[in-house]
Amino acid sequence: MEIINGTQVAFLVKEKLKDDIKNNFIELNRAVPKLAVILVGNDPASLIYVEGKSKACSQVGISSQMFHLDEKTTENELREVIEKLNKDKTVDGILLQLPLPKHFDENKMVNLISPEKDVDGLTRVNLGKLISNDNTGLFSCTPSGIIELLKYYNVNLKGKDVVIINRSLLVGKPLAFMFLNEDSTVTICHSKTKDLKEKTLKADIIVVAVGKKGFLTQDMVKDGAIVIDVGINRNNEAKKVCGDVDFENVSKKASLITPVPGGVGPMTIAMLLKNTYLAAIKNR
Ligand code: NAP
Repeated sequence: MEIINGTQVAFLVKEKLKDDIKNNFIELNRAVPKLAVILVGNDPASLIYVEGKSKACSQVGISSQMFHLDEKTTENELREVIEKLNKDKTVDGILLQLPLPKHFDENKMVNLISPEKDVDGLTRVNLGKLISNDNTGLFSCTPSGIIELLKYYNVNLKGKDVVIINRSLLVGKPLAFMFLNEDSTVTICHSKTKDLKEKTLKADIIVVAVGKKGFLTQDMVKDGAIVIDVGINRNNEAKKVCGDVDFENVSKKASLITPVPGGVGPMTIAMLLKNTYLAAIKNR
């Protein structure tokens, strides 16, 4: 069994980006790529995420600007901010931190972002490009990070049976199409799926993103399977983060497995930085 080192792979992605930004922007006296981060309200987890993203930007030479809006911001006010940033030629990428407060139609707000600046890959245009295997789009960060990790560990995805336990627009749906584009055979599972264990036991690769500690147990995994844990569950008392996989026992059966923390999480941020760089390269 091998444990995937997402921190290390993310570090390598960021080192390469740092070089690319130096060569293609700084040394040519061009303004470095710029990310605009919009946060509405004061959700504590979101505050930590946006701070982490801004810090990661500065590590690779991307400039970032935070737009912190009041909890009571209206849809029209948020629309104005997004439309201004869409027009701003100094801004290459726009990230709208989710979840938004409950009075927003999240899907409507996300789709106001210009697809060329949609570094989270969540607009209909970019999701459509992913489905049609058109690589001119910007693609979702967590799913891209998972595919990048598997490729780094030389996993041949062609013909592999993949089970994804999640059908969200953020994770499961885009990831399913990324695996399909790599010639894998994909089963998407969710809370209404019958006989989940029967399906996971047949899988060469299991991706779990349910948000429940210890959800994927040893008896659900076949010998030698690859297990990717996307879940983030916070144990506030112990101030510890854990995933959805019973790591101690599942790791005895898996051939390759991601830990939490240090697996998929760091890759999500690395892919956000890469998308911001790609947006700047493509659109200037
Ligand atoms: P979400 O929209 O709530 O999705 C959860 C998925 O799990 C849904 O598809 C749900 O099914 C399914 N599910 C829930 N209970 C189930 C059960 N008993 N059996 C089978 N499926 C079940 O959440 P999300 O935004 O996709 O995030 C999922 C998890 O990944 C969270 O822990 C989140 O923190 C984490 N995450 C991590 C990263 C990272 O960078 N590491 C990035 C994004 C998300 P239904 O669709 O039927 O409700």
